[in-house]
Amino acid sequence: MTAKVALITGGTGGIGTEICRALATHLDCKVVASWLRGIDDGAAWQAKQKEAGFDFEIAEGNVGDYEAAKKMVEEAVSKAGPIDILVNCAGITRDKMFKRMEKQQWDDVIKSNLDSVFNVTKQVLDGMVERKYGRIINISSVNGQKGQAGQTNYSAAKAGMHGFTMALAQEVADKGVTVNTISPGYIATSMVMAIKEEIRNSLIKQVPVGRFGTPEEIGWAVAFLANEKSGFITGANIAINGGMHMG
Ligand code: NAP
Repeated sequence: MTAKVALITGGTGGIGTEICRALATHLDCKVVASWLRGIDDGAAWQAKQKEAGFDFEIAEGNVGDYEAAKKMVEEAVSKAGPIDILVNCAGITRDKMFKRMEKQQWDDVIKSNLDSVFNVTKQVLDGMVERKYGRIINISSVNGQKGQAGQTNYSAAKAGMHGFTMALAQEVADKGVTVNTISPGYIATSMVMAIKEEIRNSLIKQVPVGRFGTPEEIGWAVAFLANEKSGFITGANIAINGGMHMG
């Protein structure tokens, strides 16, 4: 059987890297990670993965921009072949209470987290439908489910992702393509671990499991949804938040 091709947007990030590794480890996928020039160093990330025994491709582009996302997917396909599994994981936060939030902070978050889902999915869906197989997994957030003060932009974008999931899942349910959302709670990426220890400890108190989640735990769930055997799961939202929010 030929290896499935997986494209992970934001694949070089904290959670994205573990999703890449999980898809290679558990499903033997050919993996392409998207990266963003100027902030990330895609080649350095790729070399580091190679040292750890992972042979990943990279494709560059701002997924918040339609034309750049199109080029990024073309690069990914030219390197690895048509995309069978798409994980929309790229995202940013620009937190501010609404009173002080500027239009730019709203736009940046909506573009990176939500427009990106349209921009990249648009490039791969027709091929999945033609080949009668596809897995689309959108990485949302617990804050899209419950809202979070200081994050009207992020909560709106992340809630919007799951609306997208449910609608598209219905459109392609009989075409062999599933569309699902994963909503992580606090995950111990370098961003979260950079928060002062005393604040981190107060955050952990909100988590019944008593710790932050790990990027590996998100990778595991992505591999589960991406598995061929998960074909009856579509339009679902898998909450991975240690019991912090049960919706
Ligand atoms: P991260 O390390 O910052 O990874 C995010 C990745 O997305 C980065 O590689 C980033 O590239 C990329 N990205 C952002 N905007 C992009 C754009 N317009 N075009 C292309 N790439 C773009 O953060 P993370 O913690 O792993 O988060 C991954 C996803 O999980 C995000 O969608 C986040 O909202 C979600 N999430 C995270 C947590 C958590 O606790 N960490 C909880 C819930 C949900 P650059 O580095 O170049 O900006």
